[in-house]
Amino acid sequence: MINDIISESIKEKKQKLAKFRRNMIYFRWIILIFIIPAFLFTSEFAVSKNSAYLTILLTVLYNTIVTLLIVFSRPERVRKNVGIVFYIDVLLICFITCVLGGIESDTFIVLLFIISYYGISRDIASIVNITVFTIFMYSIFILGFEKNRLNEFNYWRLISRDLFMLITAYGISLIISEVKKYDEMHKREFKLARTDKLTGLANRHYFDQKLEEEALYADYARKPLNILMFDIDNFKNFNDTYGHIWGDKLLSMFGDIVMQNIRKTDIPVRYGGEEFIVLVGDLDMSTVKGIGDRIRSQLEKQNLNMENEEKRCKVTVSCGVAQYPTHSKDIKEVVDYADKALYYAKEIGKNIVVSYDEIGKLREAVQIDIDTYLSN
Ligand code: GH3
Ligand code: MG
Ligand code: MG
Repeated sequence: MINDIISESIKEKKQKLAKFRRNMIYFRWIILIFIIPAFLFTSEFAVSKNSAYLTILLTVLYNTIVTLLIVFSRPERVRKNVGIVFYIDVLLICFITCVLGGIESDTFIVLLFIISYYGISRDIASIVNITVFTIFMYSIFILGFEKNRLNEFNYWRLISRDLFMLITAYGISLIISEVKKYDEMHKREFKLARTDKLTGLANRHYFDQKLEEEALYADYARKPLNILMFDIDNFKNFNDTYGHIWGDKLLSMFGDIVMQNIRKTDIPVRYGGEEFIVLVGDLDMSTVKGIGDRIRSQLEKQNLNMENEEKRCKVTVSCGVAQYPTHSKDIKEVVDYADKALYYAKEIGKNIVVSYDEIGKLREAVQIDIDTYLSN
């Protein structure tokens, strides 16, 4: 099943890339087949047969090379290569514009297409870059072409065409920023739906969604997946003594402690009221217990400054650890085992990290510890 999921996402990526390649190629050949001949036939400038042949030959040749480049580029290079090709397009179209009559030719419309098509698939900075480049190149080519008649050249015409390009670029950037705004809003809402408000950790809903997925990934990567389950000790008592507001502050602070002690790839969850889970991939049992113990001892050392000094208090947490697939091949059962280990931790005195295979083995050890502590 993980192979299904992974190959599904690879398939999706491949399909996206294939679509991108296909669209690019269609876009270019449609422009070439319909638009370039249209310019040739409607040009007010008397285009010689040779110029027309040269234009068609040049564009077909160029487009064939570009098509091959798009088809045979390595997947990770496609977008970059296509980006470079857009810039070469600008140069080529500026050149063709000169062949077809300079400022008289309407081919600058193709430049508007390029700015729009290039911009819409990228960001605003890219639009600014390509627009500045296009306006600059178009003006240079036109002025170069008209260099012998510059004193009678209609500069307003050139300026108005440059302005067209600028307005097109502005329109496209407005569209992009609007789309980006919705995209960000959507992402924010998506994040909010899976986040616990009080602690900022993932919520139970997200955990339920993610659990099977992470187990499948662990199977695929042939690595273990650990479940650490925490439960604050005597929290009811804490709430009763200090009130719910301080209770909430404690939960939020514990969330911070958890975050400080795990890696970016681990998934911290507020599982229930004062219960937390961390999904830790890849590491062995003793390391994971070490992480649990670091969190436990950090909370223990934390001084909670309640309203005044006399009310200063200590809080502890217990933790149960179980590992997939070592303890069970069913990930839900592993969560259950972590819960059992946690229950055992509570039973033998709280403020301790217990792994599933230690259940039943620790009572005497803890008892001996207590006895030696008392006898000292
Ligand atoms: P144990 O050491 O065995 O875990 O004892 P406990 O008192 O922590 O366990 P119990 O399950 O009896 O109590 C949990 C308490 O957590 C009860 C409830 O009032 C409190 N609680 C649950 N959610 C929240 C919350 O969001 N905010 C606050 N302030 N308290 C909460
Ligand atoms: Mg509880
Ligand atoms: Mg508790």
